[in-house]
Parts: sequence; C-alpha cells; structure tokens
Amino acid sequence: MPLHHHLIAGVRVSSNTTRSNINPSNTDDLIGEFSEADASQVNLAVQAAAQALPQWSRSTPQQRFDVLDFIGSEILARKQELGTLLAREEGKVLAEAIGEVTRAAYVFKFFAGEALRIGGQAIASVRPGMEVITSREAVGVVGLITPWNFPIAIPAWKTAPALACGNTVILKPSELTPACASALADIISRSGLPAGAFNLVLGAGVAGKALVEHPQVDAISFTGSIGTGKSIAQHCALHLKKFQLEMGGKNPLVVLDDADLPLAVECAVNGAFFSTGQRCTASSRTIVTEKIYAEFSAALIARTAQLRVGDALDAANQIGPVVDLRQLEKNLSYIEIGRAEGGKLLIGGQRQAGKGYFFTPAVIENHDAQARINQEEIFGPVTSLIKVKDFEQALQVANATPFGLSGGICTTSLKYATQFRREMQAGMVMVNAPTAGVDYHVPFGGSKASSFGPREQGGMAMEFYTRVKTHYLA
Ligand code: NAD
Repeated sequence: MPLHHHLIAGVRVSSNTTRSNINPSNTDDLIGEFSEADASQVNLAVQAAAQALPQWSRSTPQQRFDVLDFIGSEILARKQELGTLLAREEGKVLAEAIGEVTRAAYVFKFFAGEALRIGGQAIASVRPGMEVITSREAVGVVGLITPWNFPIAIPAWKTAPALACGNTVILKPSELTPACASALADIISRSGLPAGAFNLVLGAGVAGKALVEHPQVDAISFTGSIGTGKSIAQHCALHLKKFQLEMGGKNPLVVLDDADLPLAVECAVNGAFFSTGQRCTASSRTIVTEKIYAEFSAALIARTAQLRVGDALDAANQIGPVVDLRQLEKNLSYIEIGRAEGGKLLIGGQRQAGKGYFFTPAVIENHDAQARINQEEIFGPVTSLIKVKDFEQALQVANATPFGLSGGICTTSLKYATQFRREMQAGMVMVNAPTAGVDYHVPFGGSKASSFGPREQGGMAMEFYTRVKTHYLA
C-alpha cells in the first residue's frame, strides 16, 4: 500500500501515527496509508513557510505567473489519472471527477493571470504637492483548511490566489481525501516554487486546530462545516488573525407554475443528486407551487428512479457512493428524522447493497418550512419537496433558513425571475439552472450563516490574500 507523507520545506516528512484510507465504492480497496500530523509537525511546516516568505513575497509577477501556469498545465495533462484517483478516493463519478480536476487546472491558470494584474490606485491628494498611491502586499503565512467534497478544486481555489499574491502556504486537507491533496502537492513541488512556499500537512482536526492556533500564521482560509468554522472564528477574533469561512447551505430550488417542466425536473435532479448531493450548493429543498405540484412531483420521482447508483469508476453510474460510513449513517438518520416529524418518503433513502457506501437518492415530502428536514444541512442526495401557494410564499420559504449560499428559480416569468434574484438572501442566484453549477472565474460564496469574509474565486479572491498599503509621496 503506498505511503503518503507531509510535504514540509520541499521534503516529504513522515509521522509515527498514520491513517489508512479506503475506496467508498469498494471498502476492500485500500488506497493508501497516510501520515497524521501533530502540533510539532504543523510547527515545522509553519517555520518552513515563514522562512520562504521573504523570497516568495518579493517574487516578480512573471515568476508567479510561470509557477501557477505550470501547475495548471500539469494538472490538465494528468486529468484522467487525477480524476480516477479522485473518483476512487472521494466517490464522485469519473466524468464529474475529471470535470473537477479540469476546473482546478483552469483555476491555477486564471490566478496566473491575476498575478500579473495585482495593482493599486493613484488617488489625488487633498494637499498640494502630495501624491497618494495604494499598493497590495502579501498577508504572510497563510493556513488553508479544506473539506473532502471537492478534494482538488477547493485546495486549488485557495492555494492559487494565495501564491499569486506572494503568500506562503500550509495546506491542511480533509483527513478523508489525503491522496488527492498529496498528488496536487507533487505537482506543486515541481513548479519552481522555492522550497517551503507551499507545505502540506496531512491529518484531522488536531492538525487543523494547531494550524489555526499557531502564532506565526497570519491568516486562515477555511471551507467546511459551521461548527468547525465557528471555532476557528472564535480563535481568530480573539487573536486578531485574518480569516475567511465558507460553510454549509440549505439551498432552495423554486419551481413556479409557468416553468418549463422537463427543464425544472433536470435542474432539481442535477442540483440535488449529482456529486451524490455532497455539494455545499446542492438543492436540498425543492419548493413547488400548488398548481403544478402533483405533475412535478410525479415527474421528479420518475426521473429519480432512472438514476443508476454504484461504483464511481463505472461509467454506467450517475451517482457514486457517499464518502464514508459516517455520512451514510447521517443520511439514513435524516430519513428517520424526516419521517418522525411527519414527512412522507416518496422515493429512495435506502442503503443499497454492495461493497460500498451506496445510498439511493431520496425525495421526502414535508410542507412545513420549519421542519428539521427543511432547516438542517444533510449533505447527501436528499431533497425535500415543499408545496406552496404562490411565488410570494415560495420566496418567503426559500429565505426561511439561517443559510444563504445559493438559490434557484425555474420560471418563464421575467418579473418573478427578477424579483427572486433581488430578494433571495443568497450569495449566488440561478435562473432556470441548477443551484450547484458555478463558473471558476467569478466570485463564489454566500450570505447569512453560509460564509464570512471576502469572496473566494474570481478577481475578488485577491482581496483576502493581500493587505492594502497607502503611500504618500511629497
Ligand atoms: P469539517 O468542518 O468537518 O472539516 C473541514 C476541515 O476542517 C477538515 O480539513 C478538518 O480536518 C478540519 N477541522 C476539523 N476540526 C477542526 C478544528 N477544530 N480546527 C481546525 N480545523 C479543523 O467539514 P467537512 O465534513 O470536511 O465538509 C463538509 C462541510 O463543508 C459541509 O458543511 C459543506 O457545506 C461545507 N462546504 C462548504 C463549501 C463552500 O464553499 N461554502 C464548499 C464545500 C463544502
């Protein structure tokens, strides 16, 4: 079984403690044995990043472009191999896994270009003979903590802007997907970056916590669950450390009477079930007006019944396994919670036989917007179906959760589409498109409890990874 270690100061470093990782499609398939960092190894990685900072923060935009463009090209050239590893480790079906890898490659290429565009402003002074300009500088040593559900794309969309801005980095990926992170680290280590500008520490929450609490870490960018996000926020606030959080969602898809019905069904199925529903932007609530409710719900059930669940590496399957047993049990428990509070399971929601963690896509009906099934993030292929009177009630229900990541509407009415875009309390709104499909070069993030801090992705991502300096020239 291959052994995977941390990457610290350009060298692979091992731990005494290791964790093995299995393929969620086939639990007999062992992927590898992975070192688990403790606070002392996190400290070594932070020291390496601090030592590399003077050199990398003074690098030219051209040097940064060359490094990031190389990484993007290498990822693209190896997309089949990396996509296969991703499907095997995380369980996303192969076509989607290759899509994720391709996206990661373009993210590096996008931020290669952004490295050339870092700039400031020239502002007229109120004083005679004075000139004022602003510039952007690296923040310093940055800790990146990532979840398992996009194990190559999320590390990419944090690492690329961080390096483009001249920061040095310690990536702490999810303990469930260390092989993807290790493969990415291999590519980055051959890009011409100075040793120590990018470091990888493998491990679980212990390593993440040590990274957050290290006094020489200047900023933390985190994606994951709200509970972890809150604990990071508390520490960073107390120690005045810069931080950014991307967390969960309970994203609604609203379907109105006038919608193109087949399109609305495709949006619901894609948004709720693709990537096995393990997307922060998944449509976990489908809100439908009463006039078309019966017709829509029958069509949704029929389409859901056609989905083939199974091994992520078998091209005949559209839905892979959930990532691990814990996630499988969480999905099953929410089906029970949904039933216990009066919901009606319309399809799916069962463990499917096989060697993996297979769970059949579920539609559960409960019209009470405050029910737990309609309020709490499940993070699996489960959508609840909620019947409403009209657009006004749909909008009110759509907004009635603490989350605000993405929200979609299917309608042919320009009036309702426009009002929805304006009044949906979410960072991203979609019209006649799934709540989960996003571009890689535009701002990504939510409002309310879903996100905190500047946006990720697109040009706006540069804001978090830089500090502004104002210069006065007499
Ligand atoms: P998680 O919070 O359990 O773990 C996320 C990361 O934090 C992991 O690397 C983990 O090891 C680390 N961690 C755990 N405890 C820590 C601590 N005390 N201090 C520092 N780090 C710690 O989340 P998860 O289960 O890996 O991911 C699923 C969640 O991620 C869902 O809620 C999903 O909505 C969210 N997510 C959000 C986005 C987004 O952009 N909004 C994208 C993908 C996933």
